Amino acid sequence: MKALQYRRIGAPPEVVTVPDPEPGPGQVLLKVTAAGVCHSDIAVMSWPAEGFPYELPLTLGHEGAGTVEALGAGVSGLNEGDAVVVYGPWGCGTCAKCAEGKENYCLRAAELGIFPPGLGTPGAMAEYLLVDDARHLVPIDGLDPVATVPLTDAGLTPYHAVKRALPRLVPGSTAVVIGTGGLGHVAVQLLRAMSAARVIALDVSEEKLALARTVGAHETVLSDAQAVGKVRELTGGTGAQAVFDFVGAEPTVRTAGAVAAVEGEISIVGIGGGSLPVGFGALPFEVSVNAPYWGSRGELIEVIALARTGAVAVHTETYSLDEAPLAYERLHAGQVNGRAVVVPHG
Ligand code: NAD
Ligand code: ZN
Ligand code: ZN
Repeated sequence: MKALQYRRIGAPPEVVTVPDPEPGPGQVLLKVTAAGVCHSDIAVMSWPAEGFPYELPLTLGHEGAGTVEALGAGVSGLNEGDAVVVYGPWGCGTCAKCAEGKENYCLRAAELGIFPPGLGTPGAMAEYLLVDDARHLVPIDGLDPVATVPLTDAGLTPYHAVKRALPRLVPGSTAVVIGTGGLGHVAVQLLRAMSAARVIALDVSEEKLALARTVGAHETVLSDAQAVGKVRELTGGTGAQAVFDFVGAEPTVRTAGAVAAVEGEISIVGIGGGSLPVGFGALPFEVSVNAPYWGSRGELIEVIALARTGAVAVHTETYSLDEAPLAYERLHAGQVNGRAVVVPHG
């Protein structure tokens, strides 16, 4: 089958032919209907050889959707042809965190050598995808796989961050979303669907800000040196009760800290390498800061349920598997508005 692989440190990903996978006991083989292109892959492909955490070549794609092609021995509860999406942050399934459905925080994944598809294990940018366990599949019958596949990361990750901030997002409150790309434009919609907060979106691109307004942002602000003052002005000086940073670079974490309200919450979701000093006087009183990773299995089921109500519509542009390297080039250049999705059998 064809697959998009990251093969050499620093080189662009390539479409190659690899052996067709076959499901072993307990595994499920999917015919991939859609695979999302995440900015984290670009970060991975920028990491140096020293300390690189995955074996190469690596088939990319940690957002995957497909139809069940074949079941390994002992798999029940699924039928051939079922339409599903893949819960990506695989864990051991039995530790205390996994027992809560928080496989993203599995206590034993590292020790057991368990990696998510596309981030250590062969991923979804291929004609077929091997899934380690049926518990990592969520049915999406009736939903469009292209529009739905980004919800497994670009939806699930902001969903987790927004959900934990909900107690602060009462009527009259403000939420700030920094970076309205793949994750951020979904975050705006989640905030509108799940809270009464006024949503202020920040980005460096006017095009991305236009998308943020289309999907429900009440206000948009260009992310520059004046952004903090503008957000303070828009909130009557109070600042935002919740700030979601989908860039996570030094300037944006500083903005996040400067626009937070007293007792506010800051989620640094982007992996841009910035860090925000926390200490008395460094931030408004009692601000909480967290840096979450992905979300739980239960939360993915919730995101899919929300999508079924029509409350979240991911803006997508599609690419064939042969065009997948171009999708990464365009994402790297900031030219993707919404989420790029690869359709291997398109
Ligand atoms: P994306 O490229 O689609 O979106 C990033 C957006 O940020 C773009 O719209 C870009 O214009 C904007 N931006 C860049 N610099 C900015 C600045 N200084 N101020 C405001 N906006 C700025 O990327 P994505 O796929 O949505 O991923 C977003 C980030 O989240 C990446 O760092 C990615 O690696 C990370 N990520 C983290 C997790 C997690 O579990 N923590 C999961 C998925 C992605
Ligand atoms: Zn991702
Ligand atoms: Zn575990």
